[in-house]
Amino acid sequence: MLSNLAVRDIETLVHPYTNLATHREVGPLVLESGKGVYVYDTAGKEYIEGMAGLWCTSLGYSNQELIETATEQMKKLPFTHIFGGRSHDPAIELAEKLKEIAPVPISKVFYGASGSDANDTQVKIVWYMNNALGRPQKKKIISRLKGYHGVTVASASLTGLPNNHIDFDLPLPGIMHTSCPHHYRFAEPGESEQDFSSRLAAELEDMILREGPDTVAAFIAEPVMGAGGAILPPEGYFEKINAILAKYDILFISDEVITGFGRTGNMFGTTTYGMKADTISLAKQITSAYFPLSAVMLSEQVYDVLVDQSRKIGVFGHGNTYAGHPVGCAIAVKTLEIYQREKIVEHVRKVSPTFVKRLEKLGEHPLVGEARGVGLIGGVELVKDKQTKAPFEAKKGVGAKSVVFAQEEGLITRAMGDRVAFCPPLIITEAEIEEMFNRYERALNKTLNWAKAEGLL
Ligand code: PLP
Repeated sequence: MLSNLAVRDIETLVHPYTNLATHREVGPLVLESGKGVYVYDTAGKEYIEGMAGLWCTSLGYSNQELIETATEQMKKLPFTHIFGGRSHDPAIELAEKLKEIAPVPISKVFYGASGSDANDTQVKIVWYMNNALGRPQKKKIISRLKGYHGVTVASASLTGLPNNHIDFDLPLPGIMHTSCPHHYRFAEPGESEQDFSSRLAAELEDMILREGPDTVAAFIAEPVMGAGGAILPPEGYFEKINAILAKYDILFISDEVITGFGRTGNMFGTTTYGMKADTISLAKQITSAYFPLSAVMLSEQVYDVLVDQSRKIGVFGHGNTYAGHPVGCAIAVKTLEIYQREKIVEHVRKVSPTFVKRLEKLGEHPLVGEARGVGLIGGVELVKDKQTKAPFEAKKGVGAKSVVFAQEEGLITRAMGDRVAFCPPLIITEAEIEEMFNRYERALNKTLNWAKAEGLL
């Protein structure tokens, strides 16, 4: 029996990333409040938010300092834009702080409102820059299959998942995808992680040579693939990719929309994996998701080209109304202050061994082919046969079923096909990590019984 709110939802909303047909029968999970790592639905049921919302509520729910900061800024100056040379203190202070903590030398910060628009900005800046440099043929951008970079037209093109392309007439021409670095699924039998990485780097180089190095402008990658299924890079991967990109003068865009601000046990995933990034996209944990805000961190080299071009043609014609929103910037400044004061990165490093140990324990479950994690992000890959790694048929929805059972057990997590992710708020304690995995273990046992009853095993 659907609640009154659920019925009203079905009558009114088109949900993003939702099976709209099934949603009409199942209805929504309507959440009402949150505290710490917990959220509560309208019936008062408690859930551990095992996904930090959508990989973003790093400081958990009901953080009073963030709420007060937002309220004060709302009262003082709820909005001003930064077009045409206007500015305000929170936008400046945030840019200074981002420059201070950036994992690679950064000259300037360009603001937006979502991870998708940050990556669209990256694409537009690459194109604009190469036009300005008089090399308009150098425009192609290489991304990776299963990479996730957003849903706007350019960022959805960068995304390497079929749902984002089929029936949307994407990807745009000039955006291409190289193989996904998922060792468990795509390595040859017996191929080591290092050999697999070498093979993928060689494949990237072949693609660049085939296309013509003077036509390839940039490569984009997430340090850890999130929506592709919580996939960690294999050993040596980014070291080998760095070398290929440097060889052909190709910009490296690091998409840190998920990994930025402590998620992998360093302030940035770029550091964890030694990525020689030229430019970085940030969003989500920049405000602990208390306000939509994104930032693109630009190198001196890119910024100088933008300034030169303004000298020649006038305004840099890009940016949206809410870029550098004062409330968002004030919250971000406070969020970064809390990360530093509360030693959030150190906390992640302290609790991460428990997180990884419990993931590894899940790896012993008959349904789990691989369990993997770093810092406080990880996942399990559910398979039909652990020995052969044979997957379940996609349509059977085994991962999704485990998420439904997890919900019954009081845990919110997320299935991407049969890969199920864990990405809790960074403030989670060891005891809460243990409880999160206890709940998922019970959900997996229910999934196993269900799969047997359905004849899937
Ligand atoms: N980049 C990465 C790595 C992401 O995970 C996401 C969203 O999950 C995006 C970009 C897009 O961000 P948004 O949903 O804020 O547009």
